[in-house]
Amino acid sequence: MTSSNGTGPKRVLVTGGSGLVGRAIEQLVQGGEALPSEEWTFLSSKDADLTNAAETRAVFARCQPTHVIHLAAMVGGLFRNMKYNLDFWRQNVHINDNVLQTAHEHGVTKVISCLSTCIFPDKTTYPIDETMIHNGPPHSSNFGYSYAKRMIDIQNRGYHEQHGRMFTAVIPTNVFGMYDNFNIEEGHVLPGLIHKTYLAQKNGTPLVVWGSGKPRRQFIYSLDLARLFIWVLREYQEIEPIILSVGEEEEVSIKEAAESIVSAMGFKGEVIFDTTKSDGQYKKTASNSKLRKYLPDFQFTPFSQAVKETCDWFVANYDVARK
Ligand code: NAP
Ligand code: GDP
Repeated sequence: MTSSNGTGPKRVLVTGGSGLVGRAIEQLVQGGEALPSEEWTFLSSKDADLTNAAETRAVFARCQPTHVIHLAAMVGGLFRNMKYNLDFWRQNVHINDNVLQTAHEHGVTKVISCLSTCIFPDKTTYPIDETMIHNGPPHSSNFGYSYAKRMIDIQNRGYHEQHGRMFTAVIPTNVFGMYDNFNIEEGHVLPGLIHKTYLAQKNGTPLVVWGSGKPRRQFIYSLDLARLFIWVLREYQEIEPIILSVGEEEEVSIKEAAESIVSAMGFKGEVIFDTTKSDGQYKKTASNSKLRKYLPDFQFTPFSQAVKETCDWFVANYDVARK
């Protein structure tokens, strides 16, 4: 009944469907982006703990997916990574092995997993491209997460060579948007700074940006990434991963990112930099030229607009936001 060439129904299973990226894909799918031939299921850890092989098999048996977007992972910002490198390695290796092997056992037509530009070698030339993933050690701050993610690329190659499977991966840069993890200690820089700005405004205290503000990042809005994920699901046919990023010229410093939040939230207080806190990796500038060859006209949401939408969402949903 299910065809591998896209003519039959596609049952798309999204692991990590309750997270930042999963909720963005769900928003598009529920907003009319789903094709009539597609059935979508979004999973959270409540449906199955994917570190557990039996629970992974049970959820695949229930959903019978033909396609998998694999987002589930232990995820966190710089400071959570520095604290729990071992846990990042173990949890992610277990989740990834369970999901990929179970997808193989179920004859899933296509799996798209999610890597990250922070897994690339720390000592490198710029811009980083898709061929460089395994060229040297990642930054020491998140070695557990990075090596676990790199192994997905190795497994994808193995499933292709030994079993002819179409298991591939995408490589987003720093993602942000609605439904992010706004926990200050654990989350990424933008949600952390949005939450801190909200509290500083409420309490009449300074906004404290961690580190020097000099490191540089390419940020991608979760809704833009979600559009690209849907394109990869339907069109992308390579085993080799593809970087999903705004252009190199869109890279901003942490200081500029903080200023964008300050402006979006109308914060009038003092902004200070706590240089006793780590800067982490200075930059990981990535090339999106492979993406641009496929989609020369794709329009990214301007950074300031995406920041404003995210700040507005956080303020309006303060009581329910993850924090
Ligand atoms: P997130 O908001 O933290 O969401 C993580 C998702 O994984 C949640 O749905 C969570 O379920 C699920 N999950 C975690 N542990 C699980 C387990 N043991 N069993 C089942 N599900 C589990 O993360 P995100 O930012 O959306 O990240 C999605 C993917 O993008 C990840 O693979 C991440 O590595 C990658 N990525 C993220 C960024 C970024 O800047 N955020 C950048 C590059 C790549 P619950 O909601 O039930 O906990
Ligand atoms: P990374 O891109 O993987 O390094 O992870 P993050 O999203 O956590 O970004 C870390 C960078 O933002 C570092 O340079 C931090 O010093 C800086 N930063 C500034 N303020 C914050 C904050 O409140 N939370 C986090 N996570 N990082 C911050």
